[in-house]
Amino acid sequence: MPNFKTLDDLGDIAGKVALVRVDLNLPMQGGRASDVTRVEAVKPTILELADKGAKILLFAHFGRPKGQRNSTMSTSYVQDDVEDVLGKEVMYISEVSGPVVEQSIGILRNGDIGLLDNVRFWPGEEANDPEFAKAIAAHGDFYVNDAFSAAHRAHASTEGLARLLPAYAGRAMEIELKALDAALGNPEQPVAAVVGGAKVSTKLDVLENLVGKVQHLIIGGGMANTFLAARGVDVGKSLCEHDLTDTANRIMDSADHAGCTVHLPYDVIVAKEFAANPPSVRTCNVHEVAEDEMILDVGPQAVEALGDVLKTCRTLVWNGPLGAFEIEPFDTATVALAKTAAALTEGGSLTSVAGGGDTVAALAHAGVKDDFTFVSTAGGAFLEWMEGKDLPGVAALTA
Ligand code: ADP
Ligand code: MG
Repeated sequence: MPNFKTLDDLGDIAGKVALVRVDLNLPMQGGRASDVTRVEAVKPTILELADKGAKILLFAHFGRPKGQRNSTMSTSYVQDDVEDVLGKEVMYISEVSGPVVEQSIGILRNGDIGLLDNVRFWPGEEANDPEFAKAIAAHGDFYVNDAFSAAHRAHASTEGLARLLPAYAGRAMEIELKALDAALGNPEQPVAAVVGGAKVSTKLDVLENLVGKVQHLIIGGGMANTFLAARGVDVGKSLCEHDLTDTANRIMDSADHAGCTVHLPYDVIVAKEFAANPPSVRTCNVHEVAEDEMILDVGPQAVEALGDVLKTCRTLVWNGPLGAFEIEPFDTATVALAKTAAALTEGGSLTSVAGGGDTVAALAHAGVKDDFTFVSTAGGAFLEWMEGKDLPGVAALTA
């Protein structure tokens, strides 16, 4: 387990100013957030700090203003949603450093919360400018990072501040780091990884990292077609990156050397058009795909075999759906394997960790999102972690 401080390590913080990095980049619809999951995630940290009497300053980005003030990307748009979720008033502050911030801190009572404007309005944020970070750090007594989703960026509010002030992981960050460690850092073996989704090219580093770490690599989705093609299978009109078949072969070779079994589908669901329940849909062996057919999901026999693989494993890490799950019946394999994983998790034999935008949607669609051990909503940061990269925001907390 990487060594980092948590809120448990805070002493008496009554009256102290906490600079807290959170993810408030909420999806908006008609002026209000359409999903407040990200606020729910940081609520325990904020309320715990408030209970202990700290004055809390929330730092967040909102959209991509590229280093300029932009009235359409002010964090004031999410103030009401943050207040609703926290059940507490929040004071909007139009700056991130300087006299306005200092005056606001003077107004805040112990346990009060200030919401600073979009930290990306200032070019020093994304440049991780030490002077910018220093100007912010001057207002605080300590720093808390509760935004794992931004930890793959070395920005002033995600990395720079951690080097200038005593730094702590918030509760959401702590939970995420522990779950990820249990999945790939220091997992119980055997470990299975499911890697699916559209393209090999977006997940090359993920695949290369995983072959050295897991005993079973289950490849599904569009990227399985590239691996099948590399093995000489004619995949018809399927999504396939023919220029990456050498790469696929190289990955399968290094898996062999590392003692990692690569599982590719041997039966598949195909159709002539990508539409809901098309008349042309059928199940066949991978060697029977016609020239005008597309592979859109893993077949039932392969899914059953994959479920048996999971039964022999102690740990599962999953990124990417097994098929084009947005359209029926091409969600079948993803839903079936997700349910197996959920049941094994519930039974206590499997630790299951999943992440990725479409993966989270697919698990929700399967009705098992809450039955996995941990589901990360962190997107880019989750993928970089699956690639085995050091995340600067995490590294700064563990330095
Ligand atoms: P995540 O967001 O979880 O990382 P990806 O973005 O890599 O996942 O992949 C999800 C996309 O892959 C979905 O839009 C899905 O429709 C697509 N996909 C999965 N299997 C296939 C397939 N066989 N053919 C075409 N697209 C597929
Ligand atoms: Mg995606």
